[in-house]
Amino acid sequence: MSTFHVLLVWALVQAIPFLAVSILLSDCAYPSGYGDGSGNCVGVADVSLKPQRREADENENIFDITHKFTPHTPVGDSTEGIGQFLTLLTSMKNGSDYNFSEMKLPVHSGTHVDAPGHMYDNYFDEGYDVDTLDLRVLNGPALLIDVPRDKNITAEVMKSLNIPKGVRRVLFRTLNTDRRLMYKKEFDTSYVGFMKDGAQWLVDNTDIKLVGIDYLSVAAFADLIPSHLVLLRGRDIILVEGLKLDDVQPGIYSVHCLPLRLVGAEGSPIRCILIKELKAISRKSLRLDGRVSAEGWVQDIIFIEGLKLDDIPTGLYSVPLRLVGEGGSPIRCILIK
Ligand SMILES: [Zn+2]
Repeated sequence: MSTFHVLLVWALVQAIPFLAVSILLSDCAYPSGYGDGSGNCVGVADVSLKPQRREADENENIFDITHKFTPHTPVGDSTEGIGQFLTLLTSMKNGSDYNFSEMKLPVHSGTHVDAPGHMYDNYFDEGYDVDTLDLRVLNGPALLIDVPRDKNITAEVMKSLNIPKGVRRVLFRTLNTDRRLMYKKEFDTSYVGFMKDGAQWLVDNTDIKLVGIDYLSVAAFADLIPSHLVLLRGRDIILVEGLKLDDVQPGIYSVHCLPLRLVGAEGSPIRCILIKELKAISRKSLRLDGRVSAEGWVQDIIFIEGLKLDDIPTGLYSVPLRLVGEGGSPIRCILIK
């Protein structure tokens, strides 16, 4: 019997008591603990039916750092956002038994990831698409930091951030978050991002392999191509752009970012979440350093000592896209052993 089968049997055994109880108590087709909490099944014609949209879970352990996809979701070179991206091909209002939509989405719109083929045509030809991106980089401990608000991310800024060696994933929160640029449908070229020398400093002096930023490009507009070229040249750094970093404290989290498996695509919409507790890591191994840069932007960074950086919580992570107005979504699922 393979490990998978053992796990499957174990999961079924675990579920039996819940299933039995819920079947006894109600006619619901799902176990108790799901649904609206009333104990009654929710009728399909129930007018009080109201979906919940959460940015964080009830205990604020899970933060959704993905922007919703709506017609106003911004994309480079557009003043109108992505526009109508969903088409209801088959509609229940028109007599069909189900609703069935199609989506048309620019792969670099909203919260998304860049693959090396985005800026290097030879990488594109060789197949360095989003399906080749390393899930071990996209999932694991990450540092969320504030950067100085009055400039782009230069080598000088990178130096001042004092990001310790060994940190592999950093989410840079900038003035873009304060200006709520991702909430505006028109592409705004005055956003801040990495200048070429800042990108080069990151490559030369840090172990960072996941760079997250809060607008549509990690590169400042003035260095749009050069900064991308520096970061993507080695094919080992993953760029996650358009993150929703408001209302999350700086600090260390477990990040889970899952792009779609779009073969041949140099970018993909991505769902990213932050989980506050690093369950696999004892709290003793974390040391609150409290070191703050001269400008006071780096707050409460927890520096990591003697820590196995690839310890990440085990479990199932299944992350659909944030498609507003749609009953289904492509999803990326992973299991962490
Ligand atoms: Zn991109």
